[in-house]
Amino acid sequence: MSRSTPTKRVAILGSTGSIGTTALKVLRRHRDRFTVTALTAFTNNDLLGQQVAEFRPTFVGLVEDRPERRSDWQCGDGCLVEAATRDDVDIVLNAVVGAAGLDATLAALEHGKRVALANKESLVMAGELVLAAAKKGGGEIIPVDSEHSAILQCLKDHAPDEIRRLVITASGGPFRQWSSEQLRNATVDDALRHPTWRMGRKITIDSATLANKALEVIEAHLLFGVPYDRIEVVVHPQSVVHSLVEFADGSVLAQLGAPSMELPILYALTHPDRIADADVPRFDPVAMSPLCFEPVRSADFPMLALGIQAGMRGGAAPAVYNAANERAVALVLEGRIALGDIAPAVERALETLGTTPGATRSEILNADAAARRLVEDRFECSRS
Ligand code: NAD
Ligand code: MG
Repeated sequence: MSRSTPTKRVAILGSTGSIGTTALKVLRRHRDRFTVTALTAFTNNDLLGQQVAEFRPTFVGLVEDRPERRSDWQCGDGCLVEAATRDDVDIVLNAVVGAAGLDATLAALEHGKRVALANKESLVMAGELVLAAAKKGGGEIIPVDSEHSAILQCLKDHAPDEIRRLVITASGGPFRQWSSEQLRNATVDDALRHPTWRMGRKITIDSATLANKALEVIEAHLLFGVPYDRIEVVVHPQSVVHSLVEFADGSVLAQLGAPSMELPILYALTHPDRIADADVPRFDPVAMSPLCFEPVRSADFPMLALGIQAGMRGGAAPAVYNAANERAVALVLEGRIALGDIAPAVERALETLGTTPGATRSEILNADAAARRLVEDRFECSRS
């Protein structure tokens, strides 16, 4: 890029979260290339206010209306789509957590934007719709997930038939070395102690159950067009090798880096270019040694296989898996059910709803709502 290149204009949905704040940290270093033109948050009025004072976006949205909200800020669910479709936005970083990010992903792609996608749930629940929206509107999805960023960086322009296998790495989470017996008594606090990544609470629980890895396998299948039987998961506790691609000739490429989201976020903004950034944590092979790889203990982490099966089944099954998991995780975080209750509840939701149609947005949202209701009924927990 030359010095005269106009800055790219970025909207950050979920700017107060883990990915959102890390993205602003990265963008603060690259004001010559990027301008933040829109910010949205869910409830955190104070942090959003600080971000607005620093970055001076033209659009600000706070989903939950607060008495202290500034009168020129938008509120309500619609503010995500509004931010994602503005004329003064080129790149939409969707860093919202959960199914709440779906409409913004769809709308941004339909409006021809680049979506830097952290919100994997929107792609997983409505894969075909999201890909169709990109095709129709001319938008593109660039993954923020470190594993998918790694794969994208390894793939370059290789065609799908040149890829023999994708190997997605998983840290293994806090329970990697726990016995089946210990796992039965694991608590939410145990699950929130992730060994290598500091993230929002929902994805931290998903990392402990390996539901996050199932979402990532589905995400990889959709993004890179590789069949499920050629996507593998391997446990790599150091979280340094972010994923591997095996090509048809047997050559394997991997992308490595310190366990930090700064690089995948930056790359999602600059792809296919790379720009200098001296502050992204540097990789030191000696300090990072030794690197280990282990098989997944599938029987002890049933959420992985359940999710991959849902992906293979297609239709509304991935939306049912995602929604049942999302609702169950929220109940775990509220202390209303145990960690071990998640997998049986999701399995039951898939048995009941796994073959419902999921071709349209309304079918997907119906399946999503039905899955949440099933989980609530199972534990007699209402939305209160
Ligand atoms: P987080 O909980 O820290 O932040 C979530 C953000 O979304 C917050 O800004 C919040 O205000 C907003 N939000 C929450 N609910 C909302 C709703 N209903 N409507 C509108 N906005 C809402 O989560 P996070 O860890 O930053 O994760 C965000 C997304 O990125 C998730 O999909 C996660 O899977 C993905 N991701 C995160 C990491 C990571 O390192 N944190 C890595 C890879 C992918
Ligand atoms: Mg990831």
